[in-house]
Amino acid sequence: MNFYNEKRWLAFETGKFICAKCGAEMKFEDKWEEHLYCPKCGYKVDAEHYGFDSEEEYEALYPTLEERLAREKAKETEEDKK
Ligand SMILES: [Zn+2]
Repeated sequence: MNFYNEKRWLAFETGKFICAKCGAEMKFEDKWEEHLYCPKCGYKVDAEHYGFDSEEEYEALYPTLEERLAREKAKETEEDKK
């Protein structure tokens, strides 16, 4: 299973996060490494969302907890029928 898209792989391999707006190297905003910011243009992004062009793209790859629970429940119901 591949949880990371290409941009994320590159970031983890090189340790560099590139700004989606201007292409400069982004820095972590806090010591918990949760948020990235671009010193050049001020663009900010959640480290979790880095490499995703939109919220929709992120959500498509990471289903919400609710969706996962619904899926688990569907699976259980399926098994009860046997
Ligand atoms: Zn930038």
